[in-house]
Amino acid sequence: MSNCLFCRIVSGEIPSTKVYEDEICLAFRDIAPMAPTHVLVIPKEHISGVSAVTAENAAIAGHCIAVCAKVAELEGLENGFRVVSNCGDDAGQTVPHLHFHVLGGRKLSLEMA
Ligand code: 5GP
Ligand code: ZN
Repeated sequence: MSNCLFCRIVSGEIPSTKVYEDEICLAFRDIAPMAPTHVLVIPKEHISGVSAVTAENAAIAGHCIAVCAKVAELEGLENGFRVVSNCGDDAGQTVPHLHFHVLGGRKLSLEMA
């Protein structure tokens, strides 16, 4: 997906501040952080969002969740953290490539909507 922003970050065409990488996932700092730690965890394979997660690619999405936990550990979020994935217009998804926001480093608001 050459026109996908996050695919271009995976390929290195667009630079990012990497926090963690393996053969399946990439984790990098959000360009507009909303908390002291704000990292995006994405699959290297293009999946458009949670609504496109199927039995076939669920292992990739599951690995991303495990990487969220790894990132929280690397970032020292022992007091807790939040994982968010916006899906579709009503949720405010702006980049149509599956991503999990890992937020922490302060007491987070309990507002969900
Ligand atoms: P969404 O709104 O789709 O849930 O999340 C997209 C996130 O990507 C936003 O938090 C936004 O700040 C982040 N973002 C957008 N463009 C870039 C970029 O070029 N680099 C990085 N590191 N983050 C980006
Ligand atoms: Zn993509």
